[in-house]
Amino acid sequence: MKLETLAIHGGNIVSDKEKPVIQPITLSTTFVHQPESMIYARANNPNRHALEQLLAGLEKGADAAAFSSGNAAGVSVFQALDPGSHLIAPDDMYHGLKNAIETIFKGILEATFVDMTDLDAVEQAFQPNTKLVWVETPSNPLLKITDIRAVAKLAKAKGAILACDNTFATPVFQNPIAQGADIVMHSSTKYFGGHSDIMGGALITKVQDEFWEKVKNVQIGGGAVPTPMDCYYLCRSIKTLPYRMKGHAEHAMVLANFLDGHQAVEKVYYPGLKAHPGHDIAAAQMTGFGGIVSFLVKSGADAADVVISKLRYFTNATSLGGVESLIERRAASEGPDTLTPQNLIRVSVGLEHLDDLLEDLERALAAS
Ligand SMILES: *Cc1c(COP(=O)(O)O)cnc(C)c1O
Repeated sequence: MKLETLAIHGGNIVSDKEKPVIQPITLSTTFVHQPESMIYARANNPNRHALEQLLAGLEKGADAAAFSSGNAAGVSVFQALDPGSHLIAPDDMYHGLKNAIETIFKGILEATFVDMTDLDAVEQAFQPNTKLVWVETPSNPLLKITDIRAVAKLAKAKGAILACDNTFATPVFQNPIAQGADIVMHSSTKYFGGHSDIMGGALITKVQDEFWEKVKNVQIGGGAVPTPMDCYYLCRSIKTLPYRMKGHAEHAMVLANFLDGHQAVEKVYYPGLKAHPGHDIAAAQMTGFGGIVSFLVKSGADAADVVISKLRYFTNATSLGGVESLIERRAASEGPDTLTPQNLIRVSVGLEHLDDLLEDLERALAAS
């Protein structure tokens, strides 16, 4: 099955005798005892099962686990590590997960944060107890590109698991498992949900090994599972994911080119631009460059706030991946320790008409 077909049919498991075309929502928390039946909704549920099957298929993995948020998914990987393990993660890792490592896992796990685009630095960060390498590509919000194959080779040589946060690319544009990753992580809150109305997260594994058993144990025992409604809505949203992603990427490319030539803009970060330092790697490991564009406003952070305040169609809000365009001065969301430049604006380019988006940006930038 091709991706578009799988997205529509892979998460629609219908076994009802009335033969509905769409899988019903099963709200029951418990199931009649019988051989091979589901038992209790924290352990499994038909809608979650359908979503997990769909996610495993889309990411070309052996199994998937759905969670109540992206952070719950990421934290479950860290929880599955033995205490005292060391992990290597990007210095510009999604700030919520970086915070979790530094606070919740303080004294439990050791972590080294490195620039993942510097392979020598990654290699030097390995320690005898390194059990996990975490990558996020493209990264949030600098759109840095990590060479998944190269890092996979390093991790494999040292016997560490490679996990990849694939939230920005989605399986429409990038399959980390096909490039050597062992585990793929998603914030389903973003492009999978696609309408800014569902929280969710997911992990997909290449093989059902001992580590995956531990992850599943954290999912079920920790209990940060999505509701049947959320699973249903995610399956529904994912049906349009391939077409939404094509639209997001097409719009983002045009916007990136427009911003790149604008006199009020100091710099544009978008892997689709030839001048982006990760462009060649992105072109090799992705089939599209995604829908997020970041840029620096030449006259500084206050001017960036002014630009945002003048926009009509780009809503000043955090998060990304919805059909509506969102914009924010990212450093303000990430807190005082952030490495993100203060004058950086991150845009989640939506599916509104391109002419409206361009006109809106042009007018707002003129005010900076
Ligand atoms: C949003 C996000 C997360 C966290 O997901 P939540 O659903 O907010 O918990 C993790 N990684 C990336 C890249 C994200 O954008």
